[in-house]
Amino acid sequence: MATTSRLIKKLDEAVINRIAAGEVIQGPWNAVKEMIENCLDAKATNILVVVKQGGLKLIQIQDNGKGIHKCDMDAVCERFATSKLTTFDDLSSISTYGFRGEALASISHVAHITITSKTANSQCAFKGSYSDGKLKEPVKPCAGTQGTQITVEDLFYNVPTRRKAIKSATEEYNKLYDVISKYAIHNSKTTFTLKKHGENAAIRTQSGSTVDNIQNIYGGEVSRELIKVEHHDEQYKFKVQGHVSNANYNAKKCILLLFINHRLVESSALKKALESVYANYLPKGSHPFMYLSLEIIPQNVDVNVHPTKHEVHFLHEEAIIESVQRVLENVLLDSNKSRTFLTQA
Ligand code: ADP
Ligand code: MG
Repeated sequence: MATTSRLIKKLDEAVINRIAAGEVIQGPWNAVKEMIENCLDAKATNILVVVKQGGLKLIQIQDNGKGIHKCDMDAVCERFATSKLTTFDDLSSISTYGFRGEALASISHVAHITITSKTANSQCAFKGSYSDGKLKEPVKPCAGTQGTQITVEDLFYNVPTRRKAIKSATEEYNKLYDVISKYAIHNSKTTFTLKKHGENAAIRTQSGSTVDNIQNIYGGEVSRELIKVEHHDEQYKFKVQGHVSNANYNAKKCILLLFINHRLVESSALKKALESVYANYLPKGSHPFMYLSLEIIPQNVDVNVHPTKHEVHFLHEEAIIESVQRVLENVLLDSNKSRTFLTQA
């Protein structure tokens, strides 16, 4: 009788980790997003990002947040190791961006990562380099100011298919520019700087108002034509606020900065619904600028849909979308009325 060998084998730990990492870290832009969220979780008020080759060669992020204790330095890049979540129930009231403890671990499986960090109580900073979730050698003391600096080099050096699929460094740079712009606007009290290595700052925000930051990044043409949105919905228990362009402004492409419970997310359903409101106000083929921040009670939101957390699900989705549509309709109507009034006066 012919003997057959087993076809189903358990994957190697290293292979499992690299596959999982590729799911969390899709490109430089979301490595940047994860690390910016960590800076914000650490209460940083100043975040500096330096990149080379659209982040593929280098991403360096420096913050002035609370830092990482020396005793935690060995666990930061371990998968599912986090300082932010303890029990599953905590998920329903999570107020930090992070909770999965996967970002730095994932990055360490697909890039070279070095972390230097100093807490307020420590005499000096500590520095460690990581590979595949682990410290390469014991952390070393070094000079440094309070906060954390993370350097990520040669992203996807060991995932050639992913590396090859990324066509252009410029495209990657544009994506991370977009992410930083959006976070800078949503966190207008935190200053953000983005630089290509050796060049002047491409983004440099001051701690100011949201509209100042919109002007700084998206230009005066849009910031002059903004209407404030603010609404509290008792029935579905959510709040929406932000700034949207009025009927005077029209762009070739719709720009939507959407935050749900402070997370940058995408919702094609909401985008479509809002664009349909603008269709009554804007000439055909032109589009609005919208920055909207929705706060929904955490118990009604599921942030754990995907490791990238790019998508969230929430209860009463249709009703909430309709309600936001009505809010937009009202502010546009109001602003149009005052415009007519102004031109008549
Ligand atoms: P998560 O954010 O889900 O906890 P991460 O892999 O993003 O997982 O980070 C792991 C841990 O490393 C965090 O829980 C936090 O304790 C620490 N950490 C990461 N980045 C920073 C930072 N910039 N400042 C302070 N602590 C950080
Ligand atoms: Mg995180």
